[in-house]
Amino acid sequence: MKPGLVLVGLGHGQLEILDRLEEIREHYDVQFIGGSQTVYTGAFPQVIAGLMNSATVQLPQLEPVAERIISIDPRQQTVQTERELFHYDQLVLATGAKSRGIGTPLKPMSQALLDHIDSSPVVTIVGGGKAGVELAFMCARTKDVTLYAKRILPDVPLHRQKQIERLLVKSGIMVVKQQFQDDGSEGLLLDATGVVPVAWWAESGLAKPDCFIETDKYLRHHQFTNIYVTGDMASCLNGGVDAVRSGRYVAKRLLGETNQPFRRRQSMNILLTTPGHALLTFGQLTWHGRLPYYMKRFIDSRYVRHYH
Ligand SMILES: Cc1cc2nc3c(=O)[nH]c(=O)nc-3n(C[C@H](O)[C@H](O)[C@H](O)COP(=O)(O)OP(=O)(O)OC[C@H]3O[C@@H](n4cnc5c(N)ncnc54)[C@H](O)[C@@H]3O)c2cc1C
Repeated sequence: MKPGLVLVGLGHGQLEILDRLEEIREHYDVQFIGGSQTVYTGAFPQVIAGLMNSATVQLPQLEPVAERIISIDPRQQTVQTERELFHYDQLVLATGAKSRGIGTPLKPMSQALLDHIDSSPVVTIVGGGKAGVELAFMCARTKDVTLYAKRILPDVPLHRQKQIERLLVKSGIMVVKQQFQDDGSEGLLLDATGVVPVAWWAESGLAKPDCFIETDKYLRHHQFTNIYVTGDMASCLNGGVDAVRSGRYVAKRLLGETNQPFRRRQSMNILLTTPGHALLTFGQLTWHGRLPYYMKRFIDSRYVRHYH
């Protein structure tokens, strides 16, 4: 009998694992818990700007056995869902993290949220990181936008921060450079301040309260080594690119293709700005122009086509 592999959540990493499902099924009895579609966050601001029709990606070749994980008992090796309890020999978690809790959360992302943003003429965004800034530029094409951020893109060199701030203002965005206080914000309030841990991780004994999940160098839970943790859930990973890479790596581990530890890498990010332009960042290196724009559009549309 093959060992039971339970895959939970349709996160970016899981899609990479599901891409190799046929091979994985030769070694495991596979069950999937989660939704049968999700919104690819890398591309969803482009849907809002009308640059893409859809950022929805589909669960390939599998029928979910349940929709939602509620908790895990890592000692009994069971997963509690809204339907019933499932046993696992190996478990892969890819349910992402959640927004901090200001206004309407961006995470977990859903089509309903996308529709809500689409139909809102006035939007207030909190957070001056890459997600908040790209979202502000994309929303500004069709909406009145206010962006609350103590600093704009704090991780990039100062001259770039200033340039992007000028472009935000030139695009008609009201930039408020102070801590957000909700004393009657206008329109739809969106939380782009980053993600925080979800309560069931600590309740299941996978993490300390309010902490991300710690892993060993193979992306296995540091204590329960038959649990792999991908994407935003893992304390050592950060962002969509890391999530994708972690999934590819875990697929190799499940297939016995690597004994090497997961290698963390500086990741390249591209965020769309003004029409036809994007900002590429790679550590402290940055490039604002047309080529990053075409690169981002190409990467994202290929990704969505692949998983559509
Ligand atoms: C506006 C915005 C733009 C971004 N743009 C970029 C970008 O351009 N590049 C980049 O690298 N990063 C970007 N990010 C960050 C990126 O979205 C995350 O790092 C990435 O999505 C993390 O992937 P993940 O696999 O951990 O989980 P997610 O992509 O969050 O997916 C988790 C999945 O699990 C499901 N789920 C949640 N809870 C449960 C449950 N209890 N049971 C079952 N399923 C569940 C969710 O519905 C979802 O389908 C952006 C984020 C935002 C908010």
